[in-house]
Amino acid sequence: MTERTERIYLDNAASTPVHPEVWAAMAPYLRDTYGNPSSLHHEGRRARAGVEQAREELAAWLRCRPGEIIWTSGATEAIHIALWGLALAARKEGRHHVVVSAIEHHAVLETVEQMGTLGWTVDVVPPREDGTVAVEDVMERVRRDTAIVALMWVNNETGAVQPVSAVAAAVKRHDPAVRVFSDMVQCVAGVTPVIDGVDAAVFSAHKMNGPQGAGALYLHRDVPFVPVMRGGAQERGRRAGTENVAALVGFGVAVRLLRTSWDQHVAHLTMLRDVLWDVLREIPGVRRNSPADAAPGVLNVAFPGIRNDMLLMKLDLAGVSASAGAACTAGSLEPSHVLQAMGQREDEARSAIRFSFSVLNDRAEVRRAGEIIRQIIERG
Ligand code: PLP
Repeated sequence: MTERTERIYLDNAASTPVHPEVWAAMAPYLRDTYGNPSSLHHEGRRARAGVEQAREELAAWLRCRPGEIIWTSGATEAIHIALWGLALAARKEGRHHVVVSAIEHHAVLETVEQMGTLGWTVDVVPPREDGTVAVEDVMERVRRDTAIVALMWVNNETGAVQPVSAVAAAVKRHDPAVRVFSDMVQCVAGVTPVIDGVDAAVFSAHKMNGPQGAGALYLHRDVPFVPVMRGGAQERGRRAGTENVAALVGFGVAVRLLRTSWDQHVAHLTMLRDVLWDVLREIPGVRRNSPADAAPGVLNVAFPGIRNDMLLMKLDLAGVSASAGAACTAGSLEPSHVLQAMGQREDEARSAIRFSFSVLNDRAEVRRAGEIIRQIIERG
């Protein structure tokens, strides 16, 4: 507990602290509600009620039907079952082609890479210099046999907002049978997710002050889909396996908190991002990798001539947690694939740090983090 209050946690795009209200809602389910939600007895029905209440919360936020939500163990699983489920269904129609942006999370990139080894053709769309993918760059790659177009809504490393609605509209105008997939995990960084025109989208509880181990796939009710997780009738046969009841209850509360305070949420993230940038911009040579209209929850900054791994280590020692990009690549020394796809050199990509915020951060600690960074850099 002491550690939490003394430290300044600015890595919320990797994972967020659980909101106290989320924890309070989860506790009874961890303690007392041990029934299997598929069981018909009293204990099972109690668990089922929690799972379905959470589904209604997410459906209300997305303005979709509860039956279009499929619970998963996280966004990575949701991405796998979505992309494979859509691709296998589209293959029956002779479609073997996938268009994907170069700035996707590795869970998407490596799934389509695997498809490439199994008979699918994959076209990768690079972003423009500001980190956004252009609609025309996507459309010029769509072919007669395209099965899926995959474009995330908010990039997790830069916060760059992608034109998913415009891409979905253009794709559907061109060929309504092409499936549009969008990773909407980082919409929580301050951009309202819109599922109109999108066939499948994924979300993750632990990015929005919910618990780890709960995710969701939105799947439009009319979209052909082949389930890949088999062996149970859960989630209407689209994802077998007993649901993580307490975590889903927490996910539902996290979504409700977000939905009912969205404007304040976005305003708070914007204030935090601007407070940090106001301090960092004074450091000589500093460059902002996040575009001006990026989602406010993510601020990616380059400190030219300084290696991000060294700076992150010093920051950690000084009590500030940030990251060099996606958490899953943070352990490796690979420079960001996103910044490189934007045209940056390897050494430039290696000087970038991602700061990401949540509602549980406050102005004073973010300002203090900025001062700590400035002092570390001045000391060299
Ligand atoms: N997609 C994006 C954009 C992410 O930021 C993450 C988290 O790192 C994921 C997918 C994977 O989410 P999860 O940790 O729930 O599997």
